[in-house]
Amino acid sequence: MIRNDPVRLPIRVQLPLAALAVAPLACAAPADDSADDPADATDQGIEVSHTEVAEGVYQLNAGSHNAFFVDTDGGVVAFDPISIEAAVGLAVAIRSAAPDKPLAAVVYSHSDADHATGAPVLRQAFGGDVPIIAQENAFPIIVAGGDPDLPPPDITFADEMTLRFGGRAIELHYLGPSHTDNLLVALVPDAGVLFAVDFVSNDRVGYRDLPGWHFDDLYVALDRLMELPFETVVFGHGAVGDRGTIERQLAYYADLRDAVQAAVDEGLSEEEAMAWVRLDDYAHWGQYEAWFPMNVGAVYRWLAGG
Ligand SMILES: [Zn+2]
Repeated sequence: MIRNDPVRLPIRVQLPLAALAVAPLACAAPADDSADDPADATDQGIEVSHTEVAEGVYQLNAGSHNAFFVDTDGGVVAFDPISIEAAVGLAVAIRSAAPDKPLAAVVYSHSDADHATGAPVLRQAFGGDVPIIAQENAFPIIVAGGDPDLPPPDITFADEMTLRFGGRAIELHYLGPSHTDNLLVALVPDAGVLFAVDFVSNDRVGYRDLPGWHFDDLYVALDRLMELPFETVVFGHGAVGDRGTIERQLAYYADLRDAVQAAVDEGLSEEEAMAWVRLDDYAHWGQYEAWFPMNVGAVYRWLAGG
């Protein structure tokens, strides 16, 4: 199902704000930046906060994960409810940042449950017919998952889709397979803000052994990303960055590939490569000690064809 025309919906406020502020938000625990496991999103007691990174463009932080929402004259567009609990915080944040605005749409960055779960909370808060949008390859994956807390998208697209609400454009770009085969990035052109999840991070190595990564296409997707006219980046994990942050990610994945290729060429085993390959330029990055050897192993298996 492909629909490129704007989606417009009436204002719906079915739940009072107080009904959303349920107990988990009141007993917040410190966010654990070092923990990045998808299971963390379902932990109880995460602290949820939001920050305006450009006019009407917000990062919502919920523990180790970030969501994203954009205020327009035609309503708010929310990206990645993260979890049932985080979605409660997202609904509260939207009400706080854009009082009395309808929720125009929910967009999934990709099909992974640790980012896409929780849309029913937003629908309960803002109206049951709020459309959910995702890249088309996400649809069968989500349907097969059968999780009522992660409903499938109502609207999908193949390559690009532009949402227009109240004169504000939000571009959705599919750059090809990278992390999963359905990861999109969102661009708010009038603010120069990009929302990018999981295939790039902020001065952090890739997640563990890079599960669900499509290496043959990843490097193409990274190059295509730099063609987009953004200045500021909201990530699915970590702090807000800029073009330099993305350029460092591109350099990391290129250096990682080259270093592992050298290890393969020298006849090292996967275990030897994981133990011996180092990239000292990135030793200060987040999760380097824990995850860098696992990044090496994943790239080794790709390059060695295993
Ligand atoms: Zn993911």
